Amino acid sequence: MGVNIEAYQTIISELNQKNTQLIAVSKTKPIEDIEALYNLGQKDFGENYVQELVDKQAILPKDIRWHFIGHLQSNKVKYIAPFVHLIHGVDSLKLLQEINKQGIKNNRTISCLLQMHIAKEETKFGLDENELEQVIAQVENLPNVQVSGLMGMASFTNDTSIVQNEFKHLHALFLKYQSLNEQTPNWNILSMGMSGDYPLAIDCGSNMVRIGSLLFGARNYTT
Ligand SMILES: *Cc1c(COP(=O)(O)O)cnc(C)c1O
Repeated sequence: MGVNIEAYQTIISELNQKNTQLIAVSKTKPIEDIEALYNLGQKDFGENYVQELVDKQAILPKDIRWHFIGHLQSNKVKYIAPFVHLIHGVDSLKLLQEINKQGIKNNRTISCLLQMHIAKEETKFGLDENELEQVIAQVENLPNVQVSGLMGMASFTNDTSIVQNEFKHLHALFLKYQSLNEQTPNWNILSMGMSGDYPLAIDCGSNMVRIGSLLFGARNYTT
């Protein structure tokens, strides 16, 4: 019930020490909860649903940096293109091309992360390594997108060795493309870690975590 201010303050000081950025995941949560964290200085918020994000953005302060962290359909990019700060879940060339098109229309460059499929579960979205290479090879043809790194979600399991291996694998891929920075000059974000696994994600090299339920309480439904 309501925002856990104490948890926020503990997490933010822990993350500051580790140079890790916090995305406060506010999906399904009311405006007042977002305002409560905003008033403490939190500027980066993550949302999963286009309509919900558009509605919240219209009401809330304009200096909030909105992160789209859900599964984005190409036909909905146009609604968030005017203002979105970072799209975390790009999992196809088609989607990246549409983001570029909407970037041109809005006369801005839209920052994106490529989502990798690292979990065992088939249900999770994301690219495999071959697809990643193919998408990155096309980035130079898309001047109104800036590909800034990778995002991934680990398996939902209590077996931390599985989660750790998945995070380490994603970190290794992140470093691989960081060293090949001709195609990806702004490659500096590795978005991995949620409420249940963020300390492990940071140990494995994450520099951006997406935390919802620890800050805002459990959701009535999850994605
Ligand atoms: C909902 C969601 C989160 C936050 O999950 P919590 O377990 O509540 O911290 C993070 N990342 C993505 C992609 C999500 O959909």
